[in-house]
Amino acid sequence: MSSKYLRDSSYIDGKWFNSKSNRYFDVLNPATGTILSRVNDIEPTDVELAIQAAERAFPSWSKMTSKERASIMRRFYELIIENADELAAILTQEQGKPLSEAKTEIIYGASFIEWFSEEGKRLYGDIIPSPIANSKIIVEKSPVGVCAFITPWNFPSAMITRKIGAAMAAGCTCVVKPAHETPLSALALAALAEEAGVPKGVLNIVTGTDSHNIGRVLCDSETVRKVSFTGSTDVGKILYRQCAATVKKISLELGGNAPFIVFPDADLDAAVSGAIICKYRNAGQTCVCANRFYIHEDVYDKFASKLADKVRKLKVGDGLDKGVDIGPLITPDALEKVRSHINDALGQGAKLIEGGDTHDLGGSYFKPTILGNAMEGMLIAKEETFGPVAPLFKFKDIDDVLRQANNTQFGLAAYFYAKDLALINKVYNGLEYGMVAVNTPILSTEVAPFGGVKESGIGREGSKYGLDDFIELKYVLLGGLE
Ligand code: NAP
Repeated sequence: MSSKYLRDSSYIDGKWFNSKSNRYFDVLNPATGTILSRVNDIEPTDVELAIQAAERAFPSWSKMTSKERASIMRRFYELIIENADELAAILTQEQGKPLSEAKTEIIYGASFIEWFSEEGKRLYGDIIPSPIANSKIIVEKSPVGVCAFITPWNFPSAMITRKIGAAMAAGCTCVVKPAHETPLSALALAALAEEAGVPKGVLNIVTGTDSHNIGRVLCDSETVRKVSFTGSTDVGKILYRQCAATVKKISLELGGNAPFIVFPDADLDAAVSGAIICKYRNAGQTCVCANRFYIHEDVYDKFASKLADKVRKLKVGDGLDKGVDIGPLITPDALEKVRSHINDALGQGAKLIEGGDTHDLGGSYFKPTILGNAMEGMLIAKEETFGPVAPLFKFKDIDDVLRQANNTQFGLAAYFYAKDLALINKVYNGLEYGMVAVNTPILSTEVAPFGGVKESGIGREGSKYGLDDFIELKYVLLGGLE
């Protein structure tokens, strides 16, 4: 693979950094199994250098005017957009998603840098009428300080920009640890930040495979004041515990188990098209992917047959090839999880409607799958499958479908299709989720708060609420005023 934005080492204090141990790890192309690149494997102790660089950069970055920060971030945004094709090619090769999806991710990711660069200018404080004579209450917003970010492989670019956009706009400095499967998109962002004039130390990227110990250094540090993590609920819980020792602020964007409900009055064609996007993009490896489809009994057969017609036409292949809809799963382990969920469901009486097995292309390619007769006790109802499998559950009663939809430890995104306004109102009020999409399959945008309830996480990303996670409120009581 060639690109002027390919890098093979960490980026610390404005320099490309290799740990002395000189160990490297392979970055594989999941479409072919071939080695794309070998990237320096940072020693966890060297992560301290990145924290120190961010600490040194903090005073000047945080004291810059928001307008000055905004103009640097604007340049960063423009460079990402100018190089979107090149960045998308890197992303597809290390992650596997089709090129058009990768480009959508790059543009979506860039939107956070753009939006927060503007919103950073509006970090207004408050003057509160004081109940104490001759005094004034002032509330100011100041940046949290050095922030650490740990990000997953399924959105290797956008999960970084969604965090650093808000942090940088608020005046914080950053240390990012991307997933070891997909470090190249992260390093390409660092190269672009450098070109855009982001001052040294403001954005540091550490690449390594010892994620447990890298995480420990970040969580144990007294300098790091905030950790923001996107990834699995299990790892999120570890980090939450580790951050307790230094009472850090924490944001957790964790797993989902999204319900997708189709009511009898829904526009069925729109629901089927929505289901395809909501379930099969990124081969089903999206935290907000529909995981459970609840279809009203009056439209169940029709929905299943229309969905199967569309799924049969989805083209599986290397994301770089034209016309491909579904790329490979990230690793053979991911494929085994998908297979185990299908086998468990079939063993408990589910019916195979489409797909159900590995694809003839081999490797970690899996056929887009539909299961009928899905039931509550199955693994597929309880856990995030993170693969291209749509289990269909038949329902009769609104209260019962709401109970089933909420019967999960997760609460990230939920979707439903219906026309009746009173029904829509009842259902979105009844869904215990951080995000609800009605009659549409995609809800992520930089202007709206992204995040979950229950074990799907803490905090919100994007929107004015996302900025709140990177500021501290300082209350000043000015007394003795005449
Ligand atoms: P993961 O295993 O939790 O990994 C995520 C990140 O955590 C990676 O950078 C990983 O590094 C690192 N990590 C793993 N173990 C760690 C530890 N003990 N201490 C510190 N860091 C550690 O999750 P994944 O399998 O990559 O990602 C899929 C999950 O992310 C899904 O559950 C999905 O729902 C969730 N997700 C959530 C959102 C959201 O916004 N809510 C968005 C996207 C994805 P290494 O890879 O180098 O080990």
